Amino acid sequence: MQSAADKQDAGLSTVAEASRQRGFYLETYGCQMNLADSELIQGVLEKAGYRPVADPLDAGVVLLNTCAIREHAEQRVAQRVRALISASRNSRVRIGLAGCMAQHHREKLLAAIPGLDFVVGPDGYRGLGELLNAEGGFAQLRLDRDETYADISPVRGEGTRAWLTIMRGCNRFCAFCVVPYVRGRERSLPAPVLLNELRSIAEQGYKEVVLLGQTVNAYEHDGVDFAALLRMSSTVDGIERLRFTSPHPADMSARDIEAMADCDKVMPQLHLPLQSGSDRVLKAMDRGHDMEQYLRLVDQVRAAVPDIALSTDIIVGFPGEGESDFEATSAVMDEVGFDHAYMFKYSRRERTRAENIEETVSEEEKSARLSRLIDEQQVRAGAINERMLGQLTQVLADSPAKKQAGWLAGKNRQYKTVVFDPHGATVGELVDVKIEATGPHTLRGQRVA
Ligand code: SF4
Repeated sequence: MQSAADKQDAGLSTVAEASRQRGFYLETYGCQMNLADSELIQGVLEKAGYRPVADPLDAGVVLLNTCAIREHAEQRVAQRVRALISASRNSRVRIGLAGCMAQHHREKLLAAIPGLDFVVGPDGYRGLGELLNAEGGFAQLRLDRDETYADISPVRGEGTRAWLTIMRGCNRFCAFCVVPYVRGRERSLPAPVLLNELRSIAEQGYKEVVLLGQTVNAYEHDGVDFAALLRMSSTVDGIERLRFTSPHPADMSARDIEAMADCDKVMPQLHLPLQSGSDRVLKAMDRGHDMEQYLRLVDQVRAAVPDIALSTDIIVGFPGEGESDFEATSAVMDEVGFDHAYMFKYSRRERTRAENIEETVSEEEKSARLSRLIDEQQVRAGAINERMLGQLTQVLADSPAKKQAGWLAGKNRQYKTVVFDPHGATVGELVDVKIEATGPHTLRGQRVA
């Protein structure tokens, strides 16, 4: 027979267990869209009575918000989720995968990963609270052409910079890319909703906002295009800086460039994915533009915004990429002089248009081409940044510097990382910094009054 003390202990442990069941642990992989989606998921779960916990072993729900762009990213997530399942073997935790990888592999994941309880795709977050409140596993994978989550408030972390999703999905179907299949077609949020959200972001104390979309400059809602939205957004008091990512070169209009030039709050920084410098490969990739158009666009942007920093994405080893195509990519990167580049080896993805195109570039050759581009970009970025020596640059102080006690780190207007001696300035301030040392990735200096 149980003693009164035993019964009390049992009661307490039941309460503790019930409390643990309402805790959720969320880990995010991939791009900024996914980071923003995780803030949305947090909003949905908190509304449903769940609370975030920092340790997966303290959680009743463990959720990994995943990326499907490259096979390697998926393998990392699969390893991680298996480790989490094995660490929580004896508890009643429910473990799930959200996002692009969940949508890409669908129910197959539940069979392939024993112990995985649920999968939820990018359009399935709205009902997540109710699904988790019910017993058992589930697969919520329906893509919804109308889902924008316009009425759901994301829970943003502390910081100086906020992310705001203005459109979802993509209509372009580039041959290598899985995004249109896992995130569905383009849909934009109404401008009044976005302006309200921007005001709320400003009230929460954020100084900088990054407008997000898979093809962000394809934004269109009720006659408001991306250029008009940029102009409206820059009228919101309290928001000092605006950025956006990622625009598609073929969607970049003269109106967009004019708005960038006219609005002081729109920062001189543009991520313009190139993928390849060869017309032949661009055509095979179905990118919707050729090199002449891309280079003309670069000229137009630089003429309108002379201090702009340009970054790009490059894929090496797309099927059919010959030595001369690769040389063209290397030459164009030099010609444009990108401040920064995200460079990857081609990764064949199921369900994409390129899935059935025979690979012609060996892994060794892809690696060799990639490391050459990385080395070249390192030198290029180093030289571009060196020109900043002795100059003043405006920095938004984001956080304490990681490696130098008492210093701060932040981003300048061109989104370059600046580490600086703050001389009394604090996180959240916009300050002028005189650059005293540079490298390919970081600038260092002293704040000047
Ligand atoms: S524009 Fe192309 S690369 Fe970008 S998300 Fe759409 S399909 Fe993928």
